Amino acid sequence: MRKNILLKRYNSIIENISNIKNSHNINYDITLVAVTKYSSIEVINDFLELKLSTPLAESKAQSLRDRSNIIKNADWHFIGGVQKNKIKYITGVASLIQSLDSIDTLLFMDEYSKKNGIVQNVLLQFNISDESQKNGFAINAYKMVYDKSLELNNINVLGLMGMAKYTDDISVINKEFESLRVIYDNIKSEYRNEIFNTLSMGMSSDYEIAIKQGSNMVRIGSTLFEDLI
Ligand SMILES: *Cc1c(COP(=O)(O)O)cnc(C)c1O
Repeated sequence: MRKNILLKRYNSIIENISNIKNSHNINYDITLVAVTKYSSIEVINDFLELKLSTPLAESKAQSLRDRSNIIKNADWHFIGGVQKNKIKYITGVASLIQSLDSIDTLLFMDEYSKKNGIVQNVLLQFNISDESQKNGFAINAYKMVYDKSLELNNINVLGLMGMAKYTDDISVINKEFESLRVIYDNIKSEYRNEIFNTLSMGMSSDYEIAIKQGSNMVRIGSTLFEDLI
């Protein structure tokens, strides 16, 4: 029963994505990441039994540590605030840490990775909504930040992540996603680094807009998992 609901929801998101791709002549793959932060272990296991090979994402370091210990057959991402004292819970555990938002934590994660023989894949999170409570580097610092990241041997920056303001004003959301796509395109064309190929934007409420603005990774929680216990 629960599995049927999950499959229906998943299929309807995939169909939506496919329709947007068709109507906007998008020919690259768009990765769906299932955000499990509101879900129980039982619901997550049902989802995994569908064998959709969708990465899962958590936003709290301890939850990632605990859940990845219980659920071994999943590809985990981390999407929450990265704190130095919890870097050990996520580094080498998540295949992609999407939310690196300070030079300090980048340096610290690089050190930790070096000591533990890890090369950690990350995305750099940018603050595109100008809300002071949101995490992220300032857009206009992107060159400095990316240059710095290239000096770190145990960190691979695969791309960028950003969150738009939570608002009904579609023009605001469009503008914010566009600002991240612009620096993503700039980095791609200025550095021509093959591993830099991920633009993670869009959640349940705004993934359609994000895809139109160039996103190739959407992070969806509530549309998949809401009201399932
Ligand atoms: C919770 C969360 C999501 C998913 O949000 P939904 O609106 O439930 O789809 C995506 N990205 C980040 C960074 C999140 O914290």
